[in-house]
Amino acid sequence: MSDTHIDHILRTIWTAREDSHFDIPYIRELANEGELFDQLLAEIENKGMIVIRENEVHFTPQGEYLAEKIIRRHRLSERLFADVFDAAPTTYEQLACSFEHIISPEVTESVCTFLGHPKVCPHNRPIPSGKCCLAYTNEIEPVVQKLTQIPVGENARIVYMLPSYQKRWKQLHQYGLYPGNEIKLIQKKPSYVVQIGETTLALDTEICQEIYVKRLPKQ
Ligand SMILES: [Zn+2]
Ligand SMILES: [Zn+2]
Repeated sequence: MSDTHIDHILRTIWTAREDSHFDIPYIRELANEGELFDQLLAEIENKGMIVIRENEVHFTPQGEYLAEKIIRRHRLSERLFADVFDAAPTTYEQLACSFEHIISPEVTESVCTFLGHPKVCPHNRPIPSGKCCLAYTNEIEPVVQKLTQIPVGENARIVYMLPSYQKRWKQLHQYGLYPGNEIKLIQKKPSYVVQIGETTLALDTEICQEIYVKRLPKQ
């Protein structure tokens, strides 16, 4: 039996489980593999990916691991074809069914990153996260980040500043640009403008990249 069929059954078992169904008749119906189904299920069991107990299907750790990867590839593919190529549901479902078998782990990460690490597929089912998603969370939600990384309109507290532009800093200090003070990012383009108290300041990008801030909760 081809890996494509096995992938499909694993994905079906996963989806059924999300709906709290473990029974074989339900999975058979959902899989829509016709007469092949029982043969496929037996093969998957022989490969040690599932165990069948009292007519219920459960993943082994190995099966769980593989199914999670397939689900991730499938649902990311759906998102890709739905969001980027505006494909209709029948089209993106079909495309995802082929794509899920051919994309490498590297491409999967690239697609995920390209799509902004989506949490759900177009059917609103969860997309298991990958390494890229975890790295992303750590990257965008650090407690302290560069002023250039916070969104326009945000208030932040200056935590520290890198002193590459000593002379300039002295000058900026007079305007209240020093650690502990609150700062609001007014605009990023065409140049950075911040507000400190009553003062509005235009700043060079290089300077802004040396100002580390902690975002403050919205007032
Ligand atoms: Zn989906
Ligand atoms: Zn990701």
